[in-house]
Amino acid sequence: MESEISTLSRIPSVDEILKTPAAQQAVTRFGRPRVVDAIRHATAAARRAMGSGEAVAPAADTLSADTVAADATAWLEADARPHARAVFNLTGTVLHTNLGRAVLAEAAIEAATIAMREALALEFDLARGQRGERDAMVRGLLCELTGAEDATVVNNNAAAVLLALNTLAKGKEAIVSRGELIEIGGAFRMPEIMARAGVKLVEVGTTNRTHEKDYAAEIGPKTGLILKVHPSNYRIEGFTKSVPAGSIAALARASHVPLLNDLGSGTLVDLARYGLTHEQTVAEAVAEGADLVTFSGDKLLGGPQAGFIVGRRELIARLNRNPMKRALRIDKIRLAAIEATLRLYRDPDRLTERLPTLRMLTRPLAEIEALAARLKPAVAAATGAGFAAEAIACASQIGSGSLPSETLPSAGIALHAVGARGKGRALAGLAAALRTLDRPVIGRIENDALILDLRCLADEAAFVRNLATLRGEERN
Ligand SMILES: *Cc1c(COP(=O)(O)O)cnc(C)c1O
Repeated sequence: MESEISTLSRIPSVDEILKTPAAQQAVTRFGRPRVVDAIRHATAAARRAMGSGEAVAPAADTLSADTVAADATAWLEADARPHARAVFNLTGTVLHTNLGRAVLAEAAIEAATIAMREALALEFDLARGQRGERDAMVRGLLCELTGAEDATVVNNNAAAVLLALNTLAKGKEAIVSRGELIEIGGAFRMPEIMARAGVKLVEVGTTNRTHEKDYAAEIGPKTGLILKVHPSNYRIEGFTKSVPAGSIAALARASHVPLLNDLGSGTLVDLARYGLTHEQTVAEAVAEGADLVTFSGDKLLGGPQAGFIVGRRELIARLNRNPMKRALRIDKIRLAAIEATLRLYRDPDRLTERLPTLRMLTRPLAEIEALAARLKPAVAAATGAGFAAEAIACASQIGSGSLPSETLPSAGIALHAVGARGKGRALAGLAAALRTLDRPVIGRIENDALILDLRCLADEAAFVRNLATLRGEERN
């Protein structure tokens, strides 16, 4: 009892702490209620610490008002760091789903900013002065770039597939090859999406081989559509056979059943012209005869999260009449960013300059290597004697299931823990310390090293400044 009273008496009162210069400054930055709250937390923590300490030295168990004010301010500062803050993506995966996929083009950022700040003709026909359609902002561009008759846009590609399935095959069957019953990370599993869309899944063929006759045998009065899914994030190799979309399209047409081709990533240009591996373009998928083609906005296309559906006019009109469309539609900010991104595709020669995703994918190896050589000393200095830094060759990935078996030769810095033991712990500790920086640095651990792949590093100076704040104590 006695010791409790004496402990309390050694902690200054909230009023006393509030009068300190540090607390006064905190009040102007964070507001009085937040500061009072933080002081209460800090004093409570101090009380708990003192209460639990048995033999505390007299000097150490007296708490000054300034110390509590400083603790409270530090807590408020840490808490004020936004969750949505920039990180350095040095994972080597350009389109990293967990890091927000595509980074937008400047033109898209400007368009989105205007859309946020001002009123805009979102569903308003400026020529006629009447209510217009939301999709009109991007429909023309999508048709122009894909050769499709009509187009619409929803929240993401998962939504695009859901809407198409529900509209064309609710209460009916959808035929899919067993080799294409995909799962994309985060619970997007084709069979489950089908169930939610009210569609009965009819699997044809086997995991490794599906023939045209397998599709033909299942087409009947209950068939709502045939679904072709691009194997985005895996490859089936060896004794395999799948039916090209063109052949399925012919079969579908002959049977009066629509073909939906889910391209996943989808690209609007031939990537081979930039030295990358050719990935089927949306225009090619449309030309092959798919009735509808779906693809993502924030994968290879390099725009904001969105799902596009392009194809036959009459089918797109049906999608737009589905009440689900309203629930899956996108907002004006993204629509504006999409329009600006799509416009960039009208000039493919300047696309690598303007579209960050393509710029990073095509970044010259020599440039990344030079960056690694330049940054090595700064990384070595910041990470200290416990780690050896080495400029290395490494391999980047496109990510988001695009071209899964392709890697891009890249360069970076490998950090090895020095010392006989606890190397794994030391590396994990370093990776954690890098994540606590003002702008967290995210690398990847591979072969007993922390690899910082520099392909996606654009702002070298900011990286060095940020790294210099890595504190020694955080590394241990
Ligand atoms: C990525 C992907 C999806 C999901 O797209 P989101 O835009 O992430 O919703 C669906 N199908 C395929 C084949 C994909 O690759």
